Amino acid sequence: MAKRKKIRLRGRDRAAAYIGGAAVLLLLITLIVVRWGRAGDQEAQTPENEIESSVVEWSEKVTSLLWLINTEHILPQSYVPEGLEALPNSNVQVVEEAGRAFLRMVQDMDTPVYAANGYISAAAQQNLYDTKRQEYLDAGYSEERTNMVIVDEYFPGGADEHQLGLTIDVCTEASLNLDYDFALTPQGQWLKEHAWEYGFIFRQTEGAPKIYKPWQLRYVGETHAAIMQELELCLDDYLAYLADKGTSYFSDVGAMHLDLIVYFTDSLSEIPLKIREVSGDNNGHYIVVCYR
Ligand SMILES: [Zn+2]
Repeated sequence: MAKRKKIRLRGRDRAAAYIGGAAVLLLLITLIVVRWGRAGDQEAQTPENEIESSVVEWSEKVTSLLWLINTEHILPQSYVPEGLEALPNSNVQVVEEAGRAFLRMVQDMDTPVYAANGYISAAAQQNLYDTKRQEYLDAGYSEERTNMVIVDEYFPGGADEHQLGLTIDVCTEASLNLDYDFALTPQGQWLKEHAWEYGFIFRQTEGAPKIYKPWQLRYVGETHAAIMQELELCLDDYLAYLADKGTSYFSDVGAMHLDLIVYFTDSLSEIPLKIREVSGDNNGHYIVVCYR
């Protein structure tokens, strides 16, 4: 009883203690708020030199993964991608990153596919185009009709994405022909379902937007392939979609379940940090993928 009496405060003392406690609490809250505020300020004004060095760093790492190639967006005749490598036991050349993804994918298939074409130079493509064109003319097609049918099949040199070294035509052991029946084979069906997991998509052609080539795979990297699969958009439409939105938010992307922001922009310097990858579009824009 006596002990309790000693520590029990009388009315006025108790009020003083409450006020004192409240003051300490207020001080603490103020300190926390001020510190937070400062941290926020620091974040908001990320040191300019950090942004600058990030822009320089990333401008040197811009890839061609999303480059759109067609008769309106052609490549210079002299363009040869960096890092071309022949696939094992093959004379098909592709950019190393695409080649690695391709081999990983083929390993996971029950019945494999074989690479029939990879990188095709502008000169070789022009040759293909001229030869095919001549075949039509020789077969009695008029010039006008030839021009009409050929756009569905061949692009002239500079207008075909095979020149990027990111496009691979595949065939099966049973059929070395590149034809639409490939879509019906087990391999064709497997690719349709799984190619995106390895960073490959099917590219609709500019000349024939309704027709896609089930044997032709275009490497865009796993991030964009996963988003395109989710949106059910081909490369042409995906780029138009991103351009239209400017800034796009995506959740739970791919096997890594990433939350990402994709910017479609003319300049890297307006992009905050936390960049994951940057590609050009062959038309003066950047597609910047950032972590959210
Ligand atoms: Zn092809």
